[in-house]
Amino acid sequence: MRARTFLRHHVDLRAASVRAERRTCRDLEEALGGIARALRLLEECEVTDPCAPGAPLVCNLGALSGTPVMTGLRTFFSGFSPLKVSRGGVSAPMWSAGSDRFGVHLRALGVEEILLTGRAGAPTVLVVERGPAFRFESGADLLGLTVNGKIQALARRFPGAHFAVIGPAGEHWQAVRYAAIALSTENQIRSGDCKPRFCGRGGFGGVMGSKNLLAIVATEPDRLPAAAPALKALNLEVARGDGSRRYRDADKGNGAGGTWFLYEALGPVHALPECNFTTTGTVASGALARPAVEAHTEVRDESCFRCGIACHKNAYGPDGFSAKIDYEPLNLLGSNLGIFEFDAVAALIALVDEMGLDSISCGATLSYAMEYNRRHPGAPVAEGLSFGDARGAARAIRAVAEGRLPQLGQGVRRLAEETREGGYAMECKGVELPAYLPHTNPGYPFALAGGHMSMRTYLLLMFERETGLDYWVDAITRRGPMILRDDLLGVCKFGGMKDEAMSEALREAAGIEATADELRRAVLRTHLRGYRLERRLGFTEEDYDPPAAAHERLPPLELPHFLTRGFHVELKRRVLARFDEMLAEEGL
Ligand code: SF4
Repeated sequence: MRARTFLRHHVDLRAASVRAERRTCRDLEEALGGIARALRLLEECEVTDPCAPGAPLVCNLGALSGTPVMTGLRTFFSGFSPLKVSRGGVSAPMWSAGSDRFGVHLRALGVEEILLTGRAGAPTVLVVERGPAFRFESGADLLGLTVNGKIQALARRFPGAHFAVIGPAGEHWQAVRYAAIALSTENQIRSGDCKPRFCGRGGFGGVMGSKNLLAIVATEPDRLPAAAPALKALNLEVARGDGSRRYRDADKGNGAGGTWFLYEALGPVHALPECNFTTTGTVASGALARPAVEAHTEVRDESCFRCGIACHKNAYGPDGFSAKIDYEPLNLLGSNLGIFEFDAVAALIALVDEMGLDSISCGATLSYAMEYNRRHPGAPVAEGLSFGDARGAARAIRAVAEGRLPQLGQGVRRLAEETREGGYAMECKGVELPAYLPHTNPGYPFALAGGHMSMRTYLLLMFERETGLDYWVDAITRRGPMILRDDLLGVCKFGGMKDEAMSEALREAAGIEATADELRRAVLRTHLRGYRLERRLGFTEEDYDPPAAAHERLPPLELPHFLTRGFHVELKRRVLARFDEMLAEEGL
């Protein structure tokens, strides 16, 4: 590979200074960018407190972010996570990703990577302009505003720009470990509605807040990338091919309806998490499935910038926009809290979005508190929050985001350590589980950055029904990490493109020559680096255990029960041994 370089801007919030550094890529991983490059940077950092002024927060792009490749819209925030932690109390790196035009603007302004350190003396807005040039402005007027409040205020101040902002949760970083970073969308700025995309997982809104940085502004560039003729066929495949079929609507080449389709896939076999990752065995969740909701609510198929998929849907009530509906928030703020009435769930989703919380971590923490209270009615937490109590959930969400309920703001791992009831705390390595039952996914403990973002094993049992040890060792060590590919490249996982097509896209849109095999190897090496870093930081075998409840039989669940404690112990032994072997094979 010919030597490639990339531009890193070091931004010191304390000194209000910026230094540009051009670096030579050491390998394909660094040339691809995104999380691969961020992990290489983070493995050289020593951090004990992710929210200390010196702790790094990396904002960067993948090689295809901001190019004409459809869904090439990803911006990544990486760093040491306030949530992810070993049993010994050591924090570890992870990342989160979000779409729409913020990353497109960064690319067009000439930005590839921003390394943020330091803590500003007052609330600050970082403004990126053509050049690229950086300046710091006061963010005092934004303090206390919701996510949409901040974005609309910034849109008036910087016409044509796009934004990365934190909400109240990020401002209260001392009391909230799962604050998100919101990225403005074109639809949001045009409509005024709260429709951002979120870099949600890992709590990086709190890391940004700890730097007293309320927003990053990517001002309007001279021009945006035009659709390139050479990519036309590829973009058509992204929009209408088999890989994205589940995530688009029926009128777009027989789509299955967006991430929401999972209600119709998992519901009939009772594999939808209900009431803290169990299952009620009833049809209650059916009320939240899309056909049931569309009987009384307008649902629009509205996408991110230039995306032909539109994986999420927007719901509208009599007073206009009500909430953005994705499977994870719908489930974890609905069925999994025992709340089955759509308008109530939509209101919770909208509230979590406005407060700038990660809906997955927030929902899983609330469901743990509800389950704890069910078991301990005489000594409840969080004012006796209970399953089905939408008003109580809304009160708790607001209190968490405003820093008034740190007991829940610390997330499930630390809450369960306090209550000494970790068996039904649905997290691995301190990161709350996404909306798939742990009983069905032996891969959760081996994910680097959230169980469905970084380990593709979460729907395998549903679609392949395999329960053998050999199958799962292979699924976790070979197939599972491949989900990281798009987090190197800067495209959406929902595009479902084959490696060969991505190789062509890299050549056409980024001038990077990499065969499909080389691409797969770069992805695997990135996973292995993340695993190696965990072990170097002191993660032990005990850190790769799921919650004990994952081993229990769930009678209404119509999928095989196989993840016994004995199965897991043998699986873990073989998976960790295989990862160690692979590290040696790769010379890492
Ligand atoms: S697939 Fe979904 S998240 Fe990705 S760009 Fe399209 S609409 Fe946005």
